Amino acid sequence: MLVYLSVDLEGVAGIATLDQILRGGSGYPRAQSLMTAEANAAIRGAFAGGATEVVVSDSHGTMDNLLADQLDPRARIVTGGPRPACMAQGLSRDAAVAIFVGYHAAAGAPGVLSHTFSANFTQVRVNGEPVSEAEVNALYAADRGVPIGALTGDDRICAVAREAFPGVRTVETKQALGWSATDSLHPAAACAAIEAATGAATAEASRLSARPVPETLDLEVGFASALGADFAATAPGTDRLDAHTLRYRAPNVDELLRAIMAWYYLAALAAQQSAAVALRR
Ligand SMILES: [Zn+2]
Repeated sequence: MLVYLSVDLEGVAGIATLDQILRGGSGYPRAQSLMTAEANAAIRGAFAGGATEVVVSDSHGTMDNLLADQLDPRARIVTGGPRPACMAQGLSRDAAVAIFVGYHAAAGAPGVLSHTFSANFTQVRVNGEPVSEAEVNALYAADRGVPIGALTGDDRICAVAREAFPGVRTVETKQALGWSATDSLHPAAACAAIEAATGAATAEASRLSARPVPETLDLEVGFASALGADFAATAPGTDRLDAHTLRYRAPNVDELLRAIMAWYYLAALAAQQSAAVALRR
């Protein structure tokens, strides 16, 4: 039995600040260790629950945060990017269950370090509803018939997951006190809870089922800057709704994720260009 783990960073216990989640920050190397420890807890849980194979997707930022040499040697790792399915890369029909570790709330929603894929997006909507990364990645999983067995992160994203994913187990690693403030479990306590939840979710994988993927996938993204929207609007098939908002009618989930990724990189390019001009002034 194959178990797929996607591991993000913002929802890991002990993480609250930008300094911890951005490469180059003084807190970043310690954050890599905390992230790797939670990944290992989930890997141990998956094998204890009956997995014979575990794939771990490094799912944060540049997608190369996990300390590969300190990862449980039984797991394979999907690392580095860009990659078309972003966080969900490597999630295949062969997986019995998908587990999301270290997740966080959506852009525009309260929660520790909340955002959806990009700091340059103010909101991501699918069929008119604001969505978190967890919900987008769950669409990708559902398209392959894979249910979400467990999600770990702050109290805000755990509440979203319990609504969105039938039968999901959640581990609240911390309570959100603000966007960059948290009341967190000790990392060791979080790891113990993650191991237990992953084990239980793996053991009951055959009893879970994925929600059907909607027939239409209407993607709308709000961009923080109109220049970001200008850059992103160069992608084929994009409709401009207003200065800050683009829409794309995706023919399937894979194309939905590709569109999010294309807009992600184009908006980042616009932000870099603006920052470079600001520095020259
Ligand atoms: Zn994230």
